[in-house]
Amino acid sequence: MALNIKRPNGTEDVLPKDVHKWHTIEKIAGETAESFGFTEIRVPTFENTDLFLRSVGETTDVVQKEMYTVMAKETKFTLRPEGTAGTIRAMLQNGLLNEALPQRVYYITSCFRHERPQAGRLREFHQFGVEIAGSASPVADAEVISLAKSVLDRLEVKNIELYINSIGCPGCRAKYHDALRSYFQARKDELCDTCCDRLEKNPMRILDCKSPVCQEIGSNAPLILDYLCEECSDHFEKLKEYLSKLGIEYKINPKIVRGLDYYTKTVFEFVTTEIGAQGTVCGGGRYDGLIEQLGGQHTPALGFGMGIERLLLVMEKQNCRFLTPKKCDIYFATMGEAAVEKAMELTKQLREYGFFSEFDLMGRGIKAQMKYANKTGALFTVVLGDNELEEGRARLKDMESGEEKEILLDDKFVGSFDAAYFDKMMDSIENAETVSAFQNLAEEKK
Ligand code: ATP
Ligand code: MG
Repeated sequence: MALNIKRPNGTEDVLPKDVHKWHTIEKIAGETAESFGFTEIRVPTFENTDLFLRSVGETTDVVQKEMYTVMAKETKFTLRPEGTAGTIRAMLQNGLLNEALPQRVYYITSCFRHERPQAGRLREFHQFGVEIAGSASPVADAEVISLAKSVLDRLEVKNIELYINSIGCPGCRAKYHDALRSYFQARKDELCDTCCDRLEKNPMRILDCKSPVCQEIGSNAPLILDYLCEECSDHFEKLKEYLSKLGIEYKINPKIVRGLDYYTKTVFEFVTTEIGAQGTVCGGGRYDGLIEQLGGQHTPALGFGMGIERLLLVMEKQNCRFLTPKKCDIYFATMGEAAVEKAMELTKQLREYGFFSEFDLMGRGIKAQMKYANKTGALFTVVLGDNELEEGRARLKDMESGEEKEILLDDKFVGSFDAAYFDKMMDSIENAETVSAFQNLAEEKK
């Protein structure tokens, strides 16, 4: 009978054959963040709705159109549409900002937005995000951008451009808003309803509207960079200097305003043209006012969110390499009940060493078992039958070369392996599990 319940629109299943791709990204992202002094944080999937209203902003697309909110008893909860608000809430609630600054955290987590599903735009998606709290210096902006860039580089992603902008502080923003209001006022009738409403409340949001008409009107709007105060302007200049020092290429895009209200000063995006319209793989910036807005002391902060599904799309398109999935090191083909019991004992020993070892669970004949071992790519096989059990010895077969070596079937089992065989199995563990092996491969390729 066909299953007539399907997964919800805009969600994805990650199947066992693809999960190594996620592991690669998670591992490289996590290790890179840790090398920059970040530690992982895990916060709840849902928060009080007010948290997002107060941080992301009431006039943003996210809040106005995209949040999944439920009323549970008397309280409104929302599935997190992004990672920053919950992370800052957790830092405040747990007193992290009273500890040594800067506080640096990262997360790899699901986010939920009710959008029109398309390639690179899902309703449940995942972000690798980082936040630094406590530093007002443009050096921290350079550090965060450099971290995003290192992750992309280590994943060998190419053709991705960094765009930066500054959207100033509330001081420069006030003058800029006035300029925008007078500009848009002239063509108010053509704006979409949401943007008409934004005109008074938050005109900069019009620049982030996805409607083609609003976008066309916005294309000649005044630019924020012409309205920066001296401090914001100096901050931006310093960032540019640091990026150049780090050898990180960038372009200035004075039109980036980002989709969340909490940003101040630096905003940036890493964009590719290789995966269609949803080409922003990473977006971030500074949010100096957010912590105070959520009830903390004034604490400058910044971060980014990198969309893992979009990153995967680019990596697949560019044939980037992923850590190889682990294959079985030793497969035991068994004949008879006594052999099954022996296989249980030997696999247990091997697994204690960290090897991947298995035996038949299906009650299949020896031929079918060998076929299975072949198909699943087992490195070595051992046939266990009455003869082998009686003699206490068996033959370990290298499935690649066909070569066989004798091994003992007692507690010296692992010790009786030929050194070269042992190395080959160890290599398979390294290859699957350590990024350093991945890095060595990258070195060799150069
Ligand atoms: P966009 O302009 O593409 O809607 P955004 O400004 O809403 O992006 P952010 O809130 O800054 O995006 O989120 C950071 C990153 O998360 C984005 O750069 C993107 O890679 C990813 N992302 C955002 N929304 C989605 C989504 N619906 N599906 C998949 N990835 C997403
Ligand atoms: Mg969006």
